[in-house]
Amino acid sequence: MARYTKSTCRLCRREGTKLFLKGERCYSDKCAVTRRSYPPGEHGQGRKKISEYGLQLREKQKVRRIYGVLEKQFRNYFKKAERQKGITGDNLLILLERRLDNVVYRLGFAESRAEARLLVKHGHFLVNGRKVNIPSYLVKAGDVISVREKSKNSPRFKEIAAEAAHRTVPEWLSADASAMEGHVLSLPTREQIDTVAEEHLIVELYSR
Ligand code: SF4
Repeated sequence: MARYTKSTCRLCRREGTKLFLKGERCYSDKCAVTRRSYPPGEHGQGRKKISEYGLQLREKQKVRRIYGVLEKQFRNYFKKAERQKGITGDNLLILLERRLDNVVYRLGFAESRAEARLLVKHGHFLVNGRKVNIPSYLVKAGDVISVREKSKNSPRFKEIAAEAAHRTVPEWLSADASAMEGHVLSLPTREQIDTVAEEHLIVELYSR
């Protein structure tokens, strides 16, 4: 499947905000947004005015990039969110949060969503005891996410377990870092999702 392969930090600079795509580095002063807080490219420092459409587009791109989802997939999430009861913008973010790669990241079992996606793809995770290697798999309340027994002894997972012990997880999840197991206590509400987004702009964009 097609994937963005250029510098990840460019995406943050383009959106003018930290999207936290690289784990540890994002919290250090090596972060490209901290060092060069203007859009990349030749005209990066010249661009100023932004139209209403531009604002909506940027917000959509920002959220899409945070969750590492391609355009078509993102639009499908939007269509699904529209069909659900409730507020479309909230539904959209809740759907994105329920992705298995995001849940693995939120549980602290990966440094970034990109790493979580890779680990899931490589078959290191089980959902309710069964291997799931689809990053877009949507978790449900009551699901148990665990690291495959064989994988637990790998050096990377030992590192992850040590780091995960100090991570706080959102209240809709619970994590046991020593057992490398996480529980989905309930589906998240918008208030429990710390993604900084003005999702109404995305709704407006797709309603044009
Ligand atoms: Fe974005 Fe992280 Fe790169 Fe900073 S270090 S620009 S937050 S991906």
